[in-house]
Amino acid sequence: MTDPKELLALGVDLGGTNARVALVSTATGVVESERIATSSLERPAQFIDWLTRQTATWSRDHQLVGVGIGAPNGHHGRGTIENPPNLPWPGVTPVVALLAEATGQRVTLDNDANAAALGEARFGAGLGHEHFAMVTLGTGIGGGVVVDGKVLRGADGFGGELGHLIVEPGGRLCGCGRRGCAETYASVRGLLATVREGVERGEPGADAFDDEAFRTDFEAAGRRVGEAAAAGNPLALRAYALAAEMLGRALADLASITAPSRVVLFGGLVLAGDTFLGPLQRHFEAGLLPCHRGQIELVASSLPPGHAALLGAAELAFRRAAGA
Ligand SMILES: [Zn+2]
Repeated sequence: MTDPKELLALGVDLGGTNARVALVSTATGVVESERIATSSLERPAQFIDWLTRQTATWSRDHQLVGVGIGAPNGHHGRGTIENPPNLPWPGVTPVVALLAEATGQRVTLDNDANAAALGEARFGAGLGHEHFAMVTLGTGIGGGVVVDGKVLRGADGFGGELGHLIVEPGGRLCGCGRRGCAETYASVRGLLATVREGVERGEPGADAFDDEAFRTDFEAAGRRVGEAAAAGNPLALRAYALAAEMLGRALADLASITAPSRVVLFGGLVLAGDTFLGPLQRHFEAGLLPCHRGQIELVASSLPPGHAALLGAAELAFRRAAGA
């Protein structure tokens, strides 16, 4: 270690397809990383055993300040992963206590969206911004809100859920059981719902999507909507326009509460570029309070895909070590 101020920690991202762990430096970001298929982690003990081995390997040669974990349904305050959506783990798993016991390391946990926001805060487009929001537009919407340099978690740890701001009262049914959440329009699932509605109504451009494969292969269907929009298909363009309008409403409402200087966007919908970001910028500006207009930047994440959550998980450990 050449820089005496450099700290090292392990960051863990428990994703739907892969679980990844990285040795992360405060000075240079990811030093080394390993991954394992999430499908091989059927029981929590397998996840703990894998992380214990990785921690033993890296802690032989490096002084670590701790281990940070970002996971779906990870609860910062309780140190538990609770009914994770992409894993067959039953009920509540006390991951922090189990891993701390197995490794002797200080272990910190948060949900994956908050971890991604912390990754942007330390290493990415949130650097230098005390007030910003990170929005991941994937299958659903992941939201992390940073206020005064800290992740907004709220009294019960479930604050900052941007995807569940209601943007259309009485609108589409959401996985949370309510209607009209931003996630039901401005996510890959939302885009596909708009296109399916268009197919049922026989809207212009619907012919491109009226086949069995579109209805059954979720990932391929998402890609096809992106490609069709790039080629000018009117129904695909309408799906992006509706997503932009709804997300614009949600972000404008968020701005009136937290007044961020920046909103960082990441995920599949952002890849559509101006098809999505152009109308999003217009709807966002139109929805803002006059005092905020022209003051809040919408920017794409500058980190490589998947790095934000991994770096942010390590940042949880760095912050814990600093007493934050
Ligand atoms: Zn919802």
